[in-house]
Amino acid sequence: MTNRIETYNFITRNYHLILESPGMTEKSKIIKNQEKPVQKYRFIVQSIFALVCIWIGIEFYSFVSYLESSGVSGSAYRPPGVEGFLPISALMSVYNFFITGDIHPAHPAGVFILLAIIVVSFVFGKSFCSWLCPVGFLSELVGDFSEKIYKKLFKRRIKLPKLLDYPLRSLKYLLLGFFIYAIFFSMTAASLQFFLSSSYNKAADVKMWYFFADISRFSLIVIASLFVLSIFIRGFWCRYLCPYGALLGLISFFSPTKIKRETSSCIDCNLCAKACPSFIKVDKVITVRSDECTMCLSCVDACPVADTLNVKTKIVEKKLSKRYIGLGIIGLYILIIGIGILSGNWKNNISKEEYLILHKNIDKLGHPTSTQDIRELNRASEKGASNGSEKTGKK
Ligand code: SF4
Ligand code: SF4
Repeated sequence: MTNRIETYNFITRNYHLILESPGMTEKSKIIKNQEKPVQKYRFIVQSIFALVCIWIGIEFYSFVSYLESSGVSGSAYRPPGVEGFLPISALMSVYNFFITGDIHPAHPAGVFILLAIIVVSFVFGKSFCSWLCPVGFLSELVGDFSEKIYKKLFKRRIKLPKLLDYPLRSLKYLLLGFFIYAIFFSMTAASLQFFLSSSYNKAADVKMWYFFADISRFSLIVIASLFVLSIFIRGFWCRYLCPYGALLGLISFFSPTKIKRETSSCIDCNLCAKACPSFIKVDKVITVRSDECTMCLSCVDACPVADTLNVKTKIVEKKLSKRYIGLGIIGLYILIIGIGILSGNWKNNISKEEYLILHKNIDKLGHPTSTQDIRELNRASEKGASNGSEKTGKK
């Protein structure tokens, strides 16, 4: 029988493992993990991406001012990146692209942004959430801050019991299931086109702006509650409610890139599990297959033993360098967006004059809110009505 004697110096971060067995006289020493952590770089990438989103928001504010002043003030430039905030419209456009082979001209940038996120999630797991998503970034900052306080107060992290955690985690899949059913199973190809070309879809970005700018008391209470819940329960929105995260989690199941633990050199120190913001028991599995793994690499950074916790892919047998994973995520995302820009499928085909008319009627534009509305939309599209969203939708 072999005895394992482990010591860890928290100041020098040195590990020593002594294996003793009857037939074994030599002592083995653990090889320290010398690879530099990547969390600092991940933070920089998240910050840059959040700043880009803020910049898009400022430019879009100027565009809305232009519409509100009937073209007198503000800027006539509408940033196409705003379509990244129209995920439902983008999902419809991507579906339309797969059935027709055409990129619908209403929100083409949204198609490339969603495709980039899907491809990145397939190649590198649910990495969009921890490297690029501004909501994920905010959620992480709130989670880190509150966790520091909890650790001081209670000497441990706060996590919901499994009995609550598992059913709550299924909520985001229910929301995703609803959208998938509504888009892929309820709508006909004709009504999909009909909706994408509707005035509502064309002005969806401006509608979204007013949703936040003129936020109702109810919506404000919901958003404030989500924020407060995120303070008490780490990543509340991402873990339990975000349908985007649910979609990426499903895609990540099929990703060839996974975190792998080498059991022969693992000293069961549990540091990887303690570092995981998604509460995954990394120290208990050989391969991390959880839909909650966001490829943040915190566990890999925390592992003190060399070549014990690695990112591996089925395509290349060798372990992937952490830095190359970060570069790969950003590079792949930029590459697909670049294809959209260079192929002329980035800016939409809606003229300023049409936007000004749409803005005048913005309060009259609505979208389907029930399966009954979708059935009406299907019927209207079959009849070839000129604009069904105003007739079938709710304001
Ligand atoms: S398992 Fe590792 S990479 Fe995945 S979420 Fe947890 S810490 Fe991040
Ligand atoms: S894989 Fe986890 S438990 Fe094993 S040595 Fe690394 S940090 Fe410790």
